[in-house]
Amino acid sequence: MIIAIDGYSSCGKSTVAKALAKKLSLSYIDSGAMYRAVTLFFLRNNIPIPLPEELDHFSYDYPNALNKIHISFKVNPQTRLSEIYLNDKNVEEEIRTMHVSENVSHVSAIKEVRRRMVALQQMMSRLGNLVMDGRDIGTTVFPMADIKIFMQANEEVRAQRRFKELQLKGTKVTIDEVRANLKSRDKEDSSRSKVR
Ligand code: C5P
Repeated sequence: MIIAIDGYSSCGKSTVAKALAKKLSLSYIDSGAMYRAVTLFFLRNNIPIPLPEELDHFSYDYPNALNKIHISFKVNPQTRLSEIYLNDKNVEEEIRTMHVSENVSHVSAIKEVRRRMVALQQMMSRLGNLVMDGRDIGTTVFPMADIKIFMQANEEVRAQRRFKELQLKGTKVTIDEVRANLKSRDKEDSSRSKVR
């Protein structure tokens, strides 16, 4: 069984996805975490990240860079939640920093990155039943999902959710920075073309 949960960032998708996964004994895959892990790799390795206006004319060997990235999920036995690994290192915390948030929409707009992540997500579904959340899961990744859920929340509620989450992790950030980041990601994420 595949359950797809779509919606913008910080609507509560992952909270619902985790609860469903627990209740129904499904694996949970956070697709946003995958794009964040790629972004972390690009930032660490000084791989150029095009701005939206540069995207159409940007030339870089992204397939080669992506070949150096191995993304996997492992269940943390204490929390019983799946956590993301980048080249076999747990990066669950590092991918949630503001620096990654500020770059992730630019990285996820790169066609080669999207193609690779969509293929990986589809491959993961062959390993068993799962619940996956993201913004294109029910539309592009699993159009034939057994259950599709679309979540929405008011902008201010979303900003407060993300702010609290970052505060709990000890990240120094203001609510205005969080609001601005969500707004710019919404704009960029919804204006880019779909992967083909
Ligand atoms: O859900 P989260 O806020 O962690 O996602 C981070 C970013 O990853 C989004 O802003 C979006 O740019 C990208 N993303 C995507 N497709 C998905 C999930 C996330 O492009 N399925």
